[in-house]
Amino acid sequence: MPTSASSAVPGRPPSVDALARSLADSGLPHPLLVDIARSAIAANDPESARARVAAMQRTMLQPVINATGVLLHTNLGRAPIDQMPPGSYTNLEFDLGSGSRGSRHHHAGSLLATACGAQAAVVVNNNAAAVLLALAALAAGQKVAVSRGEAVEIGGSFRVPEVLATSRATLVDVGTTNRTRVTDYQSARNEHGDALAMFLKVHPSNYVVEGFTESASVAGLSKAAAGYENRPIVVADIGSGLLDAACPWLPAGPPAWLRDEPAARQTIHDGADLIMFSGDKLLGGPQAGIIAGRADLVARCANHPLARALRPGGMVLAALQTTALAYLRRDAHLTIPFWRMACLSVESLQTRAIAMGVGTPQPMLAMPGAGTLPGVEIDSFGIALAGDHTRALLKQSRPIIARCENDTTLVDLRTITPSDDDYVAASLRAVLAAAAQRHNG
Ligand SMILES: *Cc1c(COP(=O)(O)O)cnc(C)c1O
Repeated sequence: MPTSASSAVPGRPPSVDALARSLADSGLPHPLLVDIARSAIAANDPESARARVAAMQRTMLQPVINATGVLLHTNLGRAPIDQMPPGSYTNLEFDLGSGSRGSRHHHAGSLLATACGAQAAVVVNNNAAAVLLALAALAAGQKVAVSRGEAVEIGGSFRVPEVLATSRATLVDVGTTNRTRVTDYQSARNEHGDALAMFLKVHPSNYVVEGFTESASVAGLSKAAAGYENRPIVVADIGSGLLDAACPWLPAGPPAWLRDEPAARQTIHDGADLIMFSGDKLLGGPQAGIIAGRADLVARCANHPLARALRPGGMVLAALQTTALAYLRRDAHLTIPFWRMACLSVESLQTRAIAMGVGTPQPMLAMPGAGTLPGVEIDSFGIALAGDHTRALLKQSRPIIARCENDTTLVDLRTITPSDDDYVAASLRAVLAAAAQRHNG
């Protein structure tokens, strides 16, 4: 038994303070240690204090190793970003040209607009906020036509009909669950007249309707809208923020698994007046929502009172600016972690798996994740360990998140940074050794 403060006076509970001080090597601030010591003593179990410290440390935001092969894992912060702004002041809302107050929307927003061929863009906290803001600014008190097949729940109880209601717009259902045509939107407009101010398309990111299906294209809706004197605006929530279907930032062009994913540049080109997308899905940046399109509409969004409540902070805008610059330089395959990992060859993953020298190297299937591209799998490679070691891997000093299938632990190398391979290999060895010892002992 190791000696500790709790055994200082046999038979008597230690003082809260002594117990807290005995845990100082954990690095947790003293007030937290006092709370932990107090609850351990209150539970009549001062010996549990160490375990309580470890449990508390596991609740803290910290770097983890994603061995799941899910590139955009919502529970692991979706797209990883490896740029952090320097610890200094920034010109967040200061115009260095005029020396007077500037707008935080001018940095990342304008670069992203350029990158996707839009006139302007404004950035908010996430895409849910972007949809809410666009509807509140452009359709409050008016009617919005949405296909019955697109009145979806995106996840985290973000439901299109409820967002519309929250923004005080009225939903007009058009078409059917599996088939909606441009003429359905036109009938709705003819019935409701000018009160129907918007044709809204929502990409059903996280599910697919297969079989006898049809949906109206943005190009079709844009053409139809142009037929009215008081033109309804065409708005598309494209979801995952693929910037350009041609992927000019990838030397080998678009990977096969990107098929059918709506892209910002093409949606604008097809005539959408406004699009919305996430910053941390296929864009590969920080959590953010981007509203891009016609300058007058973007300005109405940016000037709406809700925009102030939904605005992102400087760290997010700096990371998003770095992301936008990578696209404009066309080196996103090297500089944006999501694309870097997505583009790794299976051969390179296999070489790493063999070099790690632990477990059984074998092919596996990774996936994009974050509700994007449902059903899409990306060939990958990793290490299999017999038995379920996922809980033991979570307890490593840098937690490793792995999958278990059929009583086999799968460690997918596609989502692991190569510089972490040695650490992961050592952890796998340690976990296997501990399991063998438990088995024998
Ligand atoms: C993911 C998604 C959202 C929500 O985006 P967040 O950035 O997570 O708020 C909204 N609409 C669509 C179509 C999506 O795919």
